[in-house]
Amino acid sequence: MTSTPIASKIIPKASRASLDVSQIAFTSDKQKHAVDALVREFDISPQLLQDIKKNFMAGMQKGLKKDGETLAMITSYVVGRLDGSETGSYLALDVGGTNLRVVSVHLAGGGEIITRQTKYRIDEKLKIGEAKALFDFMAVCVDSFLDEHQIAVRGDTQIELGFTFSFPVLQTSINRGTLISWTKGFNAAGMVGKDPVAYLQDAFNRRHIPVRVAALVNDTVGTLLAHAYHNPETVMGVILGTGCNGAYIERIDNIKKWKGDASAKEMIINMEFGAFDKEREILPLTMFDNKMDRKSVNPNKQIFEKMIAGMYLGEITRNVLLNLIDRRLLFEGGISPDINQMWTFETAYMSTIEADASPHLHATRKILESTLSFPATTMNDRQIVKLVVELVGKRAARLSAAAVAGILEHTGAWHQKAAIGIDGSLFEYYPSFDTDIMDGLVEVFGQDIRNNISIGLAQDGSGVGAALCALLAAKHATP
Ligand code: ADP
Ligand code: MG
Repeated sequence: MTSTPIASKIIPKASRASLDVSQIAFTSDKQKHAVDALVREFDISPQLLQDIKKNFMAGMQKGLKKDGETLAMITSYVVGRLDGSETGSYLALDVGGTNLRVVSVHLAGGGEIITRQTKYRIDEKLKIGEAKALFDFMAVCVDSFLDEHQIAVRGDTQIELGFTFSFPVLQTSINRGTLISWTKGFNAAGMVGKDPVAYLQDAFNRRHIPVRVAALVNDTVGTLLAHAYHNPETVMGVILGTGCNGAYIERIDNIKKWKGDASAKEMIINMEFGAFDKEREILPLTMFDNKMDRKSVNPNKQIFEKMIAGMYLGEITRNVLLNLIDRRLLFEGGISPDINQMWTFETAYMSTIEADASPHLHATRKILESTLSFPATTMNDRQIVKLVVELVGKRAARLSAAAVAGILEHTGAWHQKAAIGIDGSLFEYYPSFDTDIMDGLVEVFGQDIRNNISIGLAQDGSGVGAALCALLAAKHATP
C-alpha cells in the first residue's frame, strides 16, 4: 500500500461581481421567463430565512432531548475551555473530506502553534471498499508522515493523536464512538455501528506504529477549539467545505438527554446540522436539487448539506444549466461532452465566475470554453451562467446564515460579544460568502449584530483543533 503526498494550492479570495437580471439582454421572452422563474425558486426571502431559522431551533431542542433525532446534537465529551497557555506536541489525522491529512502540532504556549502537515489523496475505491483497507491506509499515511518528518519516539512512549473523523458519530467517550452513517461520498463496507477509533488503533498496533488515539474529534468541534485558542470568546465552529456542519458550546443543564457526569457546566455539541429537514418541511428544494440528490451516494440524506456544501453546489448549477440547454435557452441548445458528465462543474469554477467583473466576462468564458470545451459562447450565455451561479451560491450562504442565526438565538449569544470560527474551502474562497452570512444575520437580529459577532476563518480546525482536543482529553480525564 502506498501513500502519495499532494501539494495544496492557494487561491486568493475575491468578492462577488454581482449581475442584475436587468443587465441581461435576453434573446427571447421565453428565456427571460425561465430566468425569472429560477430567481424565484432559488430565493431565500427574509421571511423564509426566519422560518427556516425557527424550524432549525425546534430541531435543536428535539435533538438535545433524545438521541436519533434529525439534528443529532451529539455530545462531544469535550468540556473545559482554552486560554492559549497550553503546551505540548501532538499528531492530528484529518479524515472526512476531499483529502486525508496528517499534521504534527506543537503548542508552544502563549497562543503560539507550529504545525507541519502532509496531504494524501484517498482513492475513490478506498472510500467505498472494505473498511479495514481504508483504516490501514490511514495508518500507512501516519507512518510515512513520521518517517518523512523524522519524528522519533523514545522507549515505550506513544504519540498522542487527535483523530478528526468528520462523519456523524455517536460519541460514547472522548475517544470512543460508533459511526451513525457515512456522508460526503464515503461508503466503506461494514462500518456503520462500529467504532472508528478501534479500527484505527488496531491498524496502528498491527503495524507497530507508536501512536495512541487520544481523542475522536469532529471537525466542527476542532474548528471551535482552534478558533478559541486565539479567541476565547468563540462560541461556535462551523464547517463550510466538502460538507457543512456546526458545533457550539451548550450548557449541560440544557442537554436533557445527557446522563453522564454533570460536574462540568458546559459541553461542546456537534450538531450534525447537514441532516436538517430530512422531513422536507421547510427547505425550498428545487427539481435541480432533487436530481442531484437522487444521483448522490446517499439519496434522501443530508438535504440541507446538499443545498449548501462545496461537494454539491457545482452539480446543482450543472443541472440548472442542462435544463436551460435542453429547452434551447442557453448555448443555442448546444452541449459539450464535459457538461454532460456528472460532477464536472466544480464549485471552484463558481468562485471564479462570481468574481468575474470583466466587461465581457472573460473568466467565465475561459471556464466554459477552455475548461468545459463549449465550442463558443455569447455574452448572453455567459451572463445567464453567471446569474445561475450567483443564485445557487447566494442561496447556500443564506441557508448557512439561517443555521448560524438559529444557534445564536438559541444560546442568546447574539446580544453579547462572541466569535464564530468557520473552516472550509467554500467559506475561504467563495466570493462574498462571509458578507452574505452577515447580511442574513443582520436581517434576523438588526445592525448591532455587526458589532457583537465576529465571523472569522478558523485556521485548521481539523488539525490544530484535534491536537487541542487530545490535550483537553488528557487534562479532563476522569481517573
Ligand atoms: P474538506 O471539507 O474536505 O476538509 P475543504 O475545506 O478544502 O475540504 O473543502 C473542499 C470543498 O471545497 C470541495 O467540495 C470543493 O468543491 C470546494 N472548493 C474548493 N476550492 C473552492 C473554491 N475556490 N471555491 C469554492 N469552493 C471550493
Ligand atoms: Mg476540512
